[in-house]
Amino acid sequence: AVSIFWFRRDLRLEDNIGLFHALKSNFPVIPLFIFDEAILDSLPKEDARVAFIHESLSKINSQLNEIGSSILIKKGKTVVVWKELISEFDIKEVFFNKDYEPFAINRDEAICQLLETNKSISYSFKDQVIFEEKEITKADGLPYTVYTPYKNKWLEKFQTMTPLREYDTSELFSNFYKSNFSFPSLEQIGFEKSTIRVKPFSLDNLKNYQETRDFPAVDSTSYLSPHLRFGTVSIRKMVNFAAKTNQVFLSELIWREFFMQILYHFPKVVTQNFKSDYDGIQWRNNEEDFKRWCAGNTGYPMVDAGMRQLNETGYMHNRVRMVVASFLCKHLLIQWQWGEAYFAEKLLDYDLSANVGNWQWAAGTGCDAAPYFRVFNPDIQLKKFDEKGIYIRKWIPEFDLGYGEPMVDHAMARDRAVATYKAGILK
Ligand code: FAD
Repeated sequence: AVSIFWFRRDLRLEDNIGLFHALKSNFPVIPLFIFDEAILDSLPKEDARVAFIHESLSKINSQLNEIGSSILIKKGKTVVVWKELISEFDIKEVFFNKDYEPFAINRDEAICQLLETNKSISYSFKDQVIFEEKEITKADGLPYTVYTPYKNKWLEKFQTMTPLREYDTSELFSNFYKSNFSFPSLEQIGFEKSTIRVKPFSLDNLKNYQETRDFPAVDSTSYLSPHLRFGTVSIRKMVNFAAKTNQVFLSELIWREFFMQILYHFPKVVTQNFKSDYDGIQWRNNEEDFKRWCAGNTGYPMVDAGMRQLNETGYMHNRVRMVVASFLCKHLLIQWQWGEAYFAEKLLDYDLSANVGNWQWAAGTGCDAAPYFRVFNPDIQLKKFDEKGIYIRKWIPEFDLGYGEPMVDHAMARDRAVATYKAGILK
């Protein structure tokens, strides 16, 4: 008889709540990861995120090997894999950490039902966030749709609760099932190494965060996003650090939870405007314009540098993400869903809730969004945040040789955007 701990967005042994509880169960614990074909089939062979997952699992496996255990890696359709597992092992209990995306919620419900028919008990835990969707609500129990009151309530709850503890799993390691499961290579999973790699995160970068986090040429943000996305670092550790040292940084971690709870309560935001009044906007959706934006050939250096950084590294600085997103939706009048999908394909930190939330913020269609008449001027953004052109020269080496004409005139595009939004908003 065994217990299974199912890794998903929590690829670490340390301070992992679901794993902690699994190791306290009455049965030896098999750690499991499933490469889900429903997700993998749509990805390019050299997808850097799959390589990062593989690398993170390999680290976990090496740690487990030291204590005579190993991780069980499976590939296939999740339900099919679970059916196989049920026939292979006498599974008494299954533990996993909750995932709040609509696809994951449905998947987990299906697996729990399957386990129930097998008389296996499943347990799920909050691990990915400090507060779940139903823990921070307005007095009437409804979800917040504006960030600042959400943040205030979040902070109030955080300050009055018992300090966040970290879960020491190492003392329970002897409860892992003794095994020597073979660990597949990336190629055996059907993928190849990528030239793009996830950077290690750095909390040392945050010393002047308040002053410099908006300047893309300065290394002054944490690079935590892919690590939080795949759970290679614990959010409790990061929040404890932020609460002690840096309130601005803490408020960014709260934005992450804000968008997660929006996605949970309003799953339609994945494809539709949060504000349905904006459904009447007549987007231009010009495919040639979209291609130029994707390639970083708009003639606006700040936009082009950002898109090239994204294409080459799978990362883009937050300030620049705001500029390129505003440019796509407002200057080019291309609906945010196109940009969101492109980011989803390229970003190493791609996270459905943050991506959709921020894209809708930029488009003005989101819950707590930039007003539609606010149209970033990409050249003013450049002067303010990269005055010496260090960032743009890094990504546009030909810059000094004279840069191409902007693909649209800013003043014309701004007026056109404001007029199109005004005409399209149904009120
Ligand atoms: P830091 O400044 O060090 O921030 C620390 C952490 O706080 C981040 O790792 C992230 O988890 C969280 N955070 C910071 N800003 C935001 C924000 N605006 N919304 C939600 N969480 C935030 N972030 C993603 O993680 N995944 C995405 O798919 C994503 N898509 C975006 C799309 C657009 C159009 C925009 C404008 C922003 C998007 N962001 C996304 C938010 C933000 O740009 C990144 O989280 C940040 O740039 C990551 O770098 P960092 O870890 O060094 O940030």
